[in-house]
Amino acid sequence: PNTQYELLRRRIFSNTKELFYFINSGLSDIQKQATKVAPEILESINFLINMGNEHKKSLLHDIEQLAEVDGYANWRQKESNDLSTLVMDRFKYLQNPENCDTARKLVCNLNKGCGYGCQLHHVVYCFMVAYGTKRTLILKSKGWRYHKAGWEEIFKPVSDTCLSPNGQSIAGWPGNPETQVINLPIIDSLTPRPPFLPLAIPEDLAPRLIRLHGDPIVWWVGQILKYLLRPQEKTSNLLQETIDKIGFKRPIVGVHIRRTDKVGTEAAFHRLEEYMLHVDQYFDYLETKQVVNKRRIYLASDDPKVFQEAKKLYPAYEIIGDPSVAKTAAVSTRYSDTSLFGIISDIHMLSMSDYLVCTFSSQVCRVAYEIMQNFYPDASHRYRSLDDIYYYGGQNAHNMIAVLPHEPSKKDIIKAISSEVSAECSSSVALTFSMPIRTMVYLPRPDRTIKCDI
Ligand code: GDP
Repeated sequence: PNTQYELLRRRIFSNTKELFYFINSGLSDIQKQATKVAPEILESINFLINMGNEHKKSLLHDIEQLAEVDGYANWRQKESNDLSTLVMDRFKYLQNPENCDTARKLVCNLNKGCGYGCQLHHVVYCFMVAYGTKRTLILKSKGWRYHKAGWEEIFKPVSDTCLSPNGQSIAGWPGNPETQVINLPIIDSLTPRPPFLPLAIPEDLAPRLIRLHGDPIVWWVGQILKYLLRPQEKTSNLLQETIDKIGFKRPIVGVHIRRTDKVGTEAAFHRLEEYMLHVDQYFDYLETKQVVNKRRIYLASDDPKVFQEAKKLYPAYEIIGDPSVAKTAAVSTRYSDTSLFGIISDIHMLSMSDYLVCTFSSQVCRVAYEIMQNFYPDASHRYRSLDDIYYYGGQNAHNMIAVLPHEPSKKDIIKAISSEVSAECSSSVALTFSMPIRTMVYLPRPDRTIKCDI
């Protein structure tokens, strides 16, 4: 299909959702001032919200149908497989140099002082730099805080032939092209910053990825995770046993509720009901397409209490997930073998869900979303985050194209002057902006950017 067609189709889908979110949030604000509003007006507002929701469902259903009837469904699947095969071949080539003694290497230390999701993102970033500099990634993982013996007992080694960090010359980043071994710092203290950090994607793949996928950087991160997280036999057996034991079955919505040390420091508290509202909306929508015999969620959390609460408040739901796993996620026991298997398995189940409801401020959910991309040609719309939009920690500017000019009518709404504007945007809602340029890699286009996250 032609790229313009695919972009338009996806844009109509996401702008339909945005239109609904926009109107819905305005109406909900009025609802919240119940004491100041006449009862009959409140009644009309409820009616508008409910009917609006019905219309949204129907419209989204039709737009999704387009992708079924336009004759390109097989092409999308094949293109997705072909791209992944191509990229896996490249990774294998890069990671298995002919001569490890003379190969140019990039050394990355797994043990960043943070959680599993954060450490995975650290390794993915290292991989991106290795790919961008055409160096073999050497992962140092002995003494890993989650598993002292190291990464290789849990996942396949990142190379079959080249694991030694030794070389003729060693330097810190950036070194120079002749330096054989470069030690990479964490992204937070990386200078100079190369152009291939997120949200960049490989330029030669960009036209195909932009056509295929609604958020190419998430696809790219997903591919790197696919390579890195090839499980050792023991790990894959454990995962399979868990799947069988808990009775993981689709359709299912993955719900991740991050609490404990995160709340009040890096993220706000969200009640279970806030998550479940979106779960319900997803199933309402799914029912426009298929019969749903049982509404089912996979619940993952670091707070064991939410399991009881969910079972009590949502008896009609089948709730899969293990509160004892959440116990191992407590800050005091977090960095241990048991906790490691808990988080690997939670992320795996979340990623295999049909849809994710979570807070993207948590790296756990972002990793699950990234891995989820491996199971569909384009799973970029299969989530609802209660807080942040998708981002990659340490990323470069997140640029968006303004498709229509827009004069802000009040504070916090950005101004857009056709598609030529370059502006900063903190929090804003404006229907006139869309079409992310999240894909401009090695090829920045500041002339066409407007930074705004809807
Ligand atoms: P973030 O702090 O949420 O952004 O994510 P990190 O992965 O960097 O650190 C949080 C850590 O807490 C995880 O790596 C786990 O060890 C633990 N954790 C948080 N949420 C869960 C969960 O839902 N299940 C399990 N098993 N562990 C969790």
